[in-house]
Amino acid sequence: MKEIYFRFYGRLKRFLPDDRQIRPYSHYFKGRQSVKDRIETVGVPHTEVELILANNRPVDFSYLVKTGDRIAVYPHFYQLELQDNYRLRPPYPGKPRFIADVHLGKLAKYLRRFNFDTIYQNDLKDQEIIDIGVEEDRIILTRDHGVLMRKQVTYGQFIHNDDSRIQLYEVAERYNLTEYYKGSESRCVDCNSRLIEIDKEEIIDRLELKTKMYFERFKICQECDKIYWEGSHYKRMEDLFEKINNY
Ligand SMILES: [Zn+2]
Repeated sequence: MKEIYFRFYGRLKRFLPDDRQIRPYSHYFKGRQSVKDRIETVGVPHTEVELILANNRPVDFSYLVKTGDRIAVYPHFYQLELQDNYRLRPPYPGKPRFIADVHLGKLAKYLRRFNFDTIYQNDLKDQEIIDIGVEEDRIILTRDHGVLMRKQVTYGQFIHNDDSRIQLYEVAERYNLTEYYKGSESRCVDCNSRLIEIDKEEIIDRLELKTKMYFERFKICQECDKIYWEGSHYKRMEDLFEKINNY
């Protein structure tokens, strides 16, 4: 048996049992093993890892662990800009785009509301989610460890919380969403298409009395025809993002 000492930092600790979160712990294995394989064996998907130090030196996923190694594993840190040669994967290109698994319908709606292109269908299978994510360079959001442990997946995030608002915090924090959000832009929460402005006169027959009375500016989904206005729901979403800014 070979022995290494693992220590996981920050939110990565949430993947471990309580007694392994505080200090380094021994991990035993046989044969030639990459550090990526060892990390995933203890339950941490590779997509969650941003930096690995072996005996205080940065290594990549292919590093072969050897007896006595002290392995420190770090998640993405918002403030930390890694040098290119320490990176485990290329930085995500451009504004984040997502695909969410079947458990994350509410989170998908939040992301669309804030104009983040997010594919979500409640009948997509894991393999389809992986294929679309990889093909279209989308960040896979999932509550399934197994999906993120697949080799071909480069960009992904495991979602820890049950509450969809806190889920949005999780994603916003990891991918710095506030930098990309422009206050007035939005997508259709039902179908992910872009909204365009429309004159009140054109849709006035479809509005309820109160909406007709209190609102002047409207948008419409080009795909499914759903009508949007800056009602109370819209304002609460604004507040939510304000909170994320101060989070
Ligand atoms: Zn729509």
